[in-house]
Amino acid sequence: MSGALDYLKERLHELDEQGLLLHPRTLDGPTGARARFDGREVINLASNNYLGLASHPRMNEAASRAAAELGAGTGAVRTIAGSMAIHRELERRFADFKRAEDALMFQSGFTANAGTVAAILDREDVIVSDQFNHASIIDGARLSRAEIKVFPHKDADAADRLMGETKAPGRRQLLITDGVFSMDGDIAPLPALVEVAEKHEAIMMLDDAHASGVLGKGGAGTVDHFGLHGRVDIQVGTLSKAIGVLGGFIAGPHHLIEWLQNRGRPYLFSTSAPPAVVAACIAALDIIRDEPERLDRLWSNTRFFKEGLHALGFDTGESETPITPVITGDEEKTQEFARRLFEEGVFTPAIVYPTVAKGRARVRTIVIADHTDEDLNEALDIFERVGEELGLL
Ligand SMILES: *Cc1c(COP(=O)(O)O)cnc(C)c1O
Repeated sequence: MSGALDYLKERLHELDEQGLLLHPRTLDGPTGARARFDGREVINLASNNYLGLASHPRMNEAASRAAAELGAGTGAVRTIAGSMAIHRELERRFADFKRAEDALMFQSGFTANAGTVAAILDREDVIVSDQFNHASIIDGARLSRAEIKVFPHKDADAADRLMGETKAPGRRQLLITDGVFSMDGDIAPLPALVEVAEKHEAIMMLDDAHASGVLGKGGAGTVDHFGLHGRVDIQVGTLSKAIGVLGGFIAGPHHLIEWLQNRGRPYLFSTSAPPAVVAACIAALDIIRDEPERLDRLWSNTRFFKEGLHALGFDTGESETPITPVITGDEEKTQEFARRLFEEGVFTPAIVYPTVAKGRARVRTIVIADHTDEDLNEALDIFERVGEELGLL
């Protein structure tokens, strides 16, 4: 080996010294409300498995059956020989779920965002984007070569000003926001943003990765939560979070979907999802319809756990959803907090700079529908004990 990559060793060392090197834990067995990580059973407050579907028996069975009947892989990209009837079935189901005209499946939420933004805009266009939007939106924006304007978090007036400043004849404008923000658990001011987009005749795009299956009636998402049907041009969802499997999708008008089938680069140049994945996603939509109590339970758990953390005196920021940060501020303290919580039996990741601003370090908790009162009470006891031990309370 040439040594040409040796600079990466130095970079890694720098990351390590700054406490920024990642050390992911390993699941021994399926994910769930309680799960084994690195050989230790813990209360799992670290997953995006909101409705507990990732290892639901009906999902596992649908995946197994599809693999047995249709095979482990599809053998090609969608546009050549890798489209199966179940891909189209899933897309129709998602269009209905989002009350959109049509939908398209991507290999992940990441590629759905990045591939779509890049496919619909050009160098002459402009993207007006919330400061805390997901990395996949940022990458898509860069790939599109459009001008990128970032507005302060949730500031619709600032978005309006940026729209006004960048307006020019023939120039397209895209206003884009996450529905639920992944590090703070707050909800975008979508009604105000939709008005800004309408005023400027801009495209309105919403990344509902953390809201699909979570917010709105039947988990339909942020558009439904605010009653804005028909006023958001592009809805992005992921199949990897509440839906419990893997993949992403775009919901919108038929001409958008047809355009993406022709110009969405990840869709065109990356192999389609295996039958087991697709069948499990279809089963997820059935379960969401048949077991509405899961969504109720997710929200009652959310209220219960948030109130418990408040009562203990923790700062949970602006969270309004099952994502509840416990903000401790100091980077090193937060790392220690997460480590001690894990040792005591609660898994919550430490989220530090650069994922969040310096001095806003936090552990991030996400409750799921399958957590029992016993799980959550035990988790709160552990938060109290470790919080006191570290002088956080
Ligand atoms: C997780 C996430 C994605 C990516 O979804 P994947 O299916 O995991 O690739 C996109 N946007 C947001 C806001 C997310 O939180």
